Amino acid sequence: MNQSYDIVVVGAGPAGSTAARYAAASGARVLVLEKDRDVGYPVRCGEAVAHEGLVQFIEPNPQWIASTVTQFRLVAPNGKSTIPTLDGAGYVLERRLFDYELAKLAVRHGAEVVTKAYVYDLLREGKAIAGVKVLIKDKPEDIRAKIVVGADGVESRVGKWAGIDTTCHIRDMESCAQATLSGVEVDEDTLDFFWGDRVAPGGYLWVFPKGRGSANVGIGISVEEAKNKSAVKYLEEFIENKYPNASTLTRIAGGVPCAKTLDRIVKDNVMLVGDAAHQVNPVSGGGIISGMIGGMIAGQVAGEAINKNNLGLLPEYATRWHKRLGWRHEAYYSLKEGIANLSDETFNTLVDQMEALTPEKRTLGALFRSAMWNQPSMLLHIAKIFLS
Ligand SMILES: Cc1cc2nc3c(=O)[nH]c(=O)nc-3n(C[C@H](O)[C@H](O)[C@H](O)COP(=O)(O)OP(=O)(O)OC[C@H]3O[C@@H](n4cnc5c(N)ncnc54)[C@H](O)[C@@H]3O)c2cc1C
Repeated sequence: MNQSYDIVVVGAGPAGSTAARYAAASGARVLVLEKDRDVGYPVRCGEAVAHEGLVQFIEPNPQWIASTVTQFRLVAPNGKSTIPTLDGAGYVLERRLFDYELAKLAVRHGAEVVTKAYVYDLLREGKAIAGVKVLIKDKPEDIRAKIVVGADGVESRVGKWAGIDTTCHIRDMESCAQATLSGVEVDEDTLDFFWGDRVAPGGYLWVFPKGRGSANVGIGISVEEAKNKSAVKYLEEFIENKYPNASTLTRIAGGVPCAKTLDRIVKDNVMLVGDAAHQVNPVSGGGIISGMIGGMIAGQVAGEAINKNNLGLLPEYATRWHKRLGWRHEAYYSLKEGIANLSDETFNTLVDQMEALTPEKRTLGALFRSAMWNQPSMLLHIAKIFLS
């Protein structure tokens, strides 16, 4: 490891490794610093991704895919369910191996990755940011860099150190808990989503198959709801009820910023990507692929800036991100409240209305139209999207 690089990336999650890969591919000298001993562990994720999102970056490989899914089922509060027709497929990943693979890809493109490297501050020269301060195997080091990419996840501090307002309003922070269970009977090709005030008020509970009788069973509810009863408690009750004899292999809890992208994701020579930039889909809470898209764009722009010796190009990252996905997340954000406010009765009605259709007409579009008719206030949120 050297003491000086073009670009230092803080965090080797999907967003950081992807930023490093694309920056290194353009010829920049890139270092990734990861605080944990292992890339990809611990896993704090339901691990579901869509096929078309994934293949933009990497060919699906059975080595890091636990299940291939072809459908999803929506389970209403009254227990009735419907399976909307879907065009694409998806996967439940083994994130531990997947993140590892992404880090290897970054290295193959020329980046260096160092683990057990905890970044604790930015390195400054006068007012300018000149790199990072890091504890490598507990030894303090100063690493110089022309650009710092903060890919340090939901608890990101790089942005704050750079003076970016990274606050996530409490109403936008989802409190999540998940257990990986073994010894459960699940449909191996189906993602299950459970709705309702009893199961997951204002959010949803998921059961994602992980192959050979195991599954990720998790829940995301707003932090405000979790004040009354924690996400962990809802999850435990669901598991006791539905899978009383299952073995629990892992338990995790964590937050997801289901917000719009931060107003600023570039400041001077610091760029934020992935959860650190709030690039999560505000409705689903999915952030793997969107974080990789953010990482890719940031890596490309950072590489261009290094090649042209012009850091003034960095704001182009924010422009390209908003054109590619940021605008869509803003639209989803407008719908989020409408969806969270759907009552149990409305969910029950939606599922009944879907089931009354012939299977080929049970599309997501049909579900969405029913939701609008049953909850006219959703029209207001949609109007906001088109008028803003
Ligand atoms: C319970 C739960 C379920 C989820 N389910 C899904 C799902 O099914 N599908 C989906 O798409 N998304 C899901 N998400 C969201 C998804 O996990 C994140 O959006 C995604 O991991 C973001 O990637 P990232 O690279 O931005 O951050 P992370 O994956 O969090 O990576 C950040 C990295 O930075 C490192 N780091 C942090 N601080 C420092 C530091 N100071 N120095 C060095 N390294 C540091 C961390 O150790 C970590 O490795 C879920 C989230 C949760 C909590």
